[in-house]
Amino acid sequence: MKLLPRDKYSCTCCGVCCKWPGYVRMTDKEVGEIADFLGLSVAEFTKKYTHLTNDRRNLSLIENEQGHCIFLTEDNRCVINDVKPQQCRDFPFKWRFFGWRKQCKMKKNY
Ligand code: SF4
Ligand code: SF4
Repeated sequence: MKLLPRDKYSCTCCGVCCKWPGYVRMTDKEVGEIADFLGLSVAEFTKKYTHLTNDRRNLSLIENEQGHCIFLTEDNRCVINDVKPQQCRDFPFKWRFFGWRKQCKMKKNY
């Protein structure tokens, strides 16, 4: 997939990417960082906020009743923004879902 230059894009904080179905995968290092950020032990964080992906490769964040990421607030902020997983940081620069252009406001005609 073509990489999207960061200077061609600005996030409107619509929250759609955090509501999109699918895993939010984390590395072991990210699990530790998020647990620290929340003041939890890795065991506590893992039990309360994660589940194992079907391919058993990663832990993924759980979702709320609406199917949104558990850390998305009602006003579309990320509770763990300072330590959010690389997968979140990489959207839409390195990966995208179908229809992403309708959500993400692009600069210029990119
Ligand atoms: S869908 Fe795009 S504009 Fe909306 S929050 Fe995600 S990155 Fe930002
Ligand atoms: S961790 Fe934050 S940025 Fe990532 S999906 Fe959840 S709310 Fe969105």
